[in-house]
Parts: sequence; structure tokens; C-alpha cells
Amino acid sequence: MRLQTKTVHTGVDKDSAYNSVTTPIYQTSTFRFEDVGTTKGYDYTRSGNPTRRSLEENITALEEGAGAAAVATGMAAVALMLHFFRAGDHIICTHDCYGGTERLLRTYRELFGLQISYVDMTDLTAVEEAVRADTKAFWIETPSNPLLNIVDIRKLSDIAHAHGALSIVDNTFLSPVNQKPFELGADFIIHSTTKYLNGHSDVVGGAVVAKDRKNAERLQFLANAVGQGASPFDCWLVLRGIKTLVPRMKEHEKNARAVAEFLSKHPNVRKVYYPGLETHPNHELAAKQQKGFGGMVSFEVDGGIEEVKHVLRSTKLFALAESLGGVESLIEHPATMSHASMAPEQREKAGINERVIRLSVGIEAVEDLTEDLGNALAFVRDAGMRRPKPKAGALC
Ligand SMILES: *Cc1c(COP(=O)(O)O)cnc(C)c1O
Repeated sequence: MRLQTKTVHTGVDKDSAYNSVTTPIYQTSTFRFEDVGTTKGYDYTRSGNPTRRSLEENITALEEGAGAAAVATGMAAVALMLHFFRAGDHIICTHDCYGGTERLLRTYRELFGLQISYVDMTDLTAVEEAVRADTKAFWIETPSNPLLNIVDIRKLSDIAHAHGALSIVDNTFLSPVNQKPFELGADFIIHSTTKYLNGHSDVVGGAVVAKDRKNAERLQFLANAVGQGASPFDCWLVLRGIKTLVPRMKEHEKNARAVAEFLSKHPNVRKVYYPGLETHPNHELAAKQQKGFGGMVSFEVDGGIEEVKHVLRSTKLFALAESLGGVESLIEHPATMSHASMAPEQREKAGINERVIRLSVGIEAVEDLTEDLGNALAFVRDAGMRRPKPKAGALC
């Protein structure tokens, strides 16, 4: 089956009692035993639930792994993954990872002695130099958030494996439609299903997918032991969302490209970050490694913090909100919102300045989206806050 067919069918058919075409929501904490010592496959929802199993089978099929655990949030997925390690283990993490991931790694360093090195993973020499005898994993996120830097999953996985370390890829930004980390050598894939997989901004959820069976079994063991499993209703919503993943991703990308091109030409925009633009520094790698460029666009307003705030306040369709990947367009300010939890030095090092605005481009009619952004940016100009535009070469 092709991916688009799998999104609709895999794992869905669970109702042998009445042949329901959609997966029932098995909203139960516990399951009656057939006899002493005999169940129909489930005994307690923390350990397993048919609706959750449907979602796990579906995501496993999309990523072509051996098994998955569907958990309560994307951060629960990150935490579940970190339970594979023990005190003193060293993890090399991309320097511009998701803010919540950085916060949890920092907390686990303090609580449990995990050792973390943050490295700019576009620099493979720096990655090699950061490897130590006790390095157990590379934590890879590409495209990064919010600047959409692309790193080479294949090369990084090769380096990790050469040193006996695992390659873990957070694939939230692209979804399996646009990136297949297992084909590029990854051992684990992390998802915040809150984002594109669900796609409708009405649930928080996460998943970890393992490439090999032994790790998949360990995932199930840990998800039950720690008690992180997603609720049946949330799993049902995500499963429902995934059925339209492929057509949604196409619309997101079409709109994001048009928005990126619109912003690139706007006099009040200093810089545009979109890997689909040929001017993006990692465009070639993105084109080679990815199957699509996705729906996220970031840009720098050509002005100071007041101009940035004007834009954030002035859009009507782009809602000022965190999160991403839903059908509706969102606008946010990484420095004070999504990345506020990141240590300020870390944020500076990652190049996230206060002029950066991040867009999650939805699937509305694109003319309405560019008009909305145009109005918000025109407001800056009309208020007399225009600054000289830098040379065209500075655009990326
Ligand atoms: C949102 C996000 C997370 C965390 O997911 P939640 O569902 O919010 O807990 C992790 N990684 C990335 C890349 C994200 O965008």
C-alpha cells in the first residue's frame, strides 16, 4: 500500500462485533476477562487499548517502523524516549531544538545526571568533535524550529552509528508525508501528533516510533510502566485527522510557498526562512532529503520590537497563538512565546532574535492569507516605521 492509502486504512478496522467502518472509541479503563487468565487481547487501558492500538499501527505503517507508542503529548514522547538512557549517558542535541525539549533535557540533567552537548548539527566536524566514549544518542530535529535549518539525517546517523550511538529524529515539522527518517538511517522517530498528524488543533498528543522490534517492545514496556499512554478519545481524533494528512500537507506546502514568495518581495521584510526557496542556505539538502518543504515559514520584520508587535497584533486570519500544523493559520513570536522557555544564551546562539516571526500556514485560500499579511505589514509602513531594506543578497 502507498502512504496515502495507509493513512486512510491502516489499523482502522477494529470492530469485529458490528463491522463499523471507523474505529470505535473504546472509552473504558478495563476489560472483562473471558476466563481466569484469558483476555481478548486487552486487560487495562494503561497497558493497551484498541483505539490507541489503531493509532499506533497507523503511525508505525506511515513511518515504516516496527512499532510505536502513542502517548499523551509530544513532550511525553520526548520523555518516553529519554527513559531509554541512564544516569551519566551523554546525548548530543541539535543546538536549535524545540524549546520544551531543551527544558526537559536541562531538567533531566539536573535530576538524573544525563549529559547533554548542544551542537550546530549543520557542522559535521563539530558533531564529530562532540562525541565522547559515553555518547549514547544524537537528538536531531530538522527542519529546526523556528529558523528551519536543515541538517543531514543520513550523515548524522552514520556518525552516530560509527560510535555506537542511536539516531533519534523529531519528525514533527514535516510528518511522514514529507520526510522518512528511517530511510535515512534513524533508529527512533518522535512526533508531536498535536501538530500536522492530527492537524485540526483540537488535541495534544505524541508518539515514538522504533525502527526495530526490540526497541518497539521496550517502548511499549516503558509507556505502560511510566503510564504515558494517550486517551482513547484523543487517539480517535488523531486517527481521524491522519486520514486527510496527504491532501492537507499538499495544501499547506502550496500556501507556504506562496506566502514565502510574497514575504520575500515585501519591502518591510528583512529576511525569509523557507527551505523551499532556492535562496535558503540549506535548500539543496532539503530538496534531496525531504519529499516536500512543509508549511512553516519564518521571517524577520524590517524594524524593531514595536514594528514586530504591530505585525503580530494586526493579522486577522493568522491567529496569534503557539503550536502549528493545524488547518488554520497561526502567527507567533518565538522570542516571547514558543522559545521563551529556552535559556536566553541558548536562544541567542541559535540565532533566534526578537525580529523573528513564525507562521504556521494553514489551508485557507492563499490570496486571503497574503492579503492579511500584507495589511499587517502595510500598517508598519503607514505608521512611519519603515527602515531601509538591506541588499537583495541578504535575503534567504
Ligand atoms: C510541539 C513540539 C513538541 C512537543 O509537543 P507537545 O504536543 O506540545 O507536547 C516537540 N517537538 C516539536 C518539534 C514540536 O513542534
